[in-house]
Amino acid sequence: MKLFQKNAAELSNMLQKNEVSAVDVVQSFLDRIELLEPHLKAFITHTPAMALQTASEVDSRRNNGEKLHPLAGVPVAIKDNISTQGLRTTCASHILESYIPPYDASVITALKRAGLPVLGKTNMDEFAMGSSTENSAFYPTRNPWNLDKVPGGSSGGSAVAVSAGMAPLALGSDTGGSIRQPASLCGLTGLRPTYGRVSRYGLIAFASSLDQIGPLTTTARDNALLLNLISGYDPLDSTALPGEVPDFTEDLGRGIKNLKVGVIRQNVSEGFDPEVTAAVLKAVSLLRDHGAEVDEVSLPLTDHGLSAYYLIAPSEASSNLGRYDGVRYGYNAGGDSIDEMFSTTRGRGFGPEVKRRIMIGTYALSAGYYDAYYLQAMKVRTMIRRDYDAAFKRFDILIGATTPTPAFNIGEKTDDPLQMYLSDICNITDSLAGVPSLSIPCGISSEGLPLGMQITGSYFNEALLLRVASFLEEAGESLPMRPKVKLPEGGEV
Ligand code: GLN
Repeated sequence: MKLFQKNAAELSNMLQKNEVSAVDVVQSFLDRIELLEPHLKAFITHTPAMALQTASEVDSRRNNGEKLHPLAGVPVAIKDNISTQGLRTTCASHILESYIPPYDASVITALKRAGLPVLGKTNMDEFAMGSSTENSAFYPTRNPWNLDKVPGGSSGGSAVAVSAGMAPLALGSDTGGSIRQPASLCGLTGLRPTYGRVSRYGLIAFASSLDQIGPLTTTARDNALLLNLISGYDPLDSTALPGEVPDFTEDLGRGIKNLKVGVIRQNVSEGFDPEVTAAVLKAVSLLRDHGAEVDEVSLPLTDHGLSAYYLIAPSEASSNLGRYDGVRYGYNAGGDSIDEMFSTTRGRGFGPEVKRRIMIGTYALSAGYYDAYYLQAMKVRTMIRRDYDAAFKRFDILIGATTPTPAFNIGEKTDDPLQMYLSDICNITDSLAGVPSLSIPCGISSEGLPLGMQITGSYFNEALLLRVASFLEEAGESLPMRPKVKLPEGGEV
């Protein structure tokens, strides 16, 4: 097995036993990137020299007998809305195309301190608005399972980097599904942590009451290892919650006996692709066979959740994106007056989906409509939270599909925003409630595409989600998987 085929836990073991150097590990992933990136386009910025530099520092520290972090030398790819000091951070937008942040996001500080080499910044939907990575201002990213399919979004580049073996670990961000949906479409384990678990300092804001950073990996253990590294209180983010952070690897392998599982009726819907529903229900019956107590639960506000999300998220976005005026950040189109400069800069700098969101949000917040739209949506959000509180009195975890269908074709939904929005229907209520939510692989479709299921927990219960995921991995029901990538010129790698 080549190094790039190993997961982060395996690489970490080999590095700690001195069986391999960090430079060799990084080089293996860089070679893979060189081979596949022209076809997949998962990255916006490549940082091979920086990655090798970090790796060689890690190697010399290890050779000097220093005690290092377990993930030291294990490389990582970073979504391009997470600020990296001195390294271009574009949000896949023309307006930030040449923006170089003067500081690191807190998660980046943590990664640097632990010695993880950064392989590059990954492609995404512009400002994380989208579900297919086709809204990138630069180029779409392709799904390594089938190059004609989307990888999901908005963290599509991060998902593809891990899925194709171009990175063992990646960070994404999830506002309304942007980690879980691409994880599902690429066959990965992707976690949206509890809101407040991971610092958002340095994450370029889309909808601040919803945005969370989280790990995309091939296994539950890798996910736990990366979550360990990025979690915890941060005085720089007023929404980061204080309190002890557990070791998320500790509960892995503890089994699922007597676990109370609620199957969300709306998320195994008859309207979904039958292969998706069948795969989820198969995993659920395996849990039942191993001693879990399973019952159905209804979250009737799922549809209203989607509507509420598409008012709340654009409202916050319209305010957050007000700062891109050509003066303080990035692109400036010039003009004869200040008004002209603002409108030309924003008119040229933002893509169509971002403009749509700014307009919806500005409208929803405007004086005459605030009560009818924004306030109403916030009431729905509160009702959704109450539904979750009630559900978690009966159940330890909730299960359903992550996405209604496997990966769709590139171009299939670009002309129909509503269809695109509907691809996150299973993800959005978890986001509105702020609870942790994990997507794991649960099979392959007849077309050869990965299928995913979503496990939701109560606040701060990430460890339980990862424990269930590791149980399903061991039981062979959620096998870590990576595709053989079929190259357009022929051959598989
Ligand atoms: N697809 C959803 C949207 O477009 C969610 C995006 C996200 O989670 N960043 O808003």
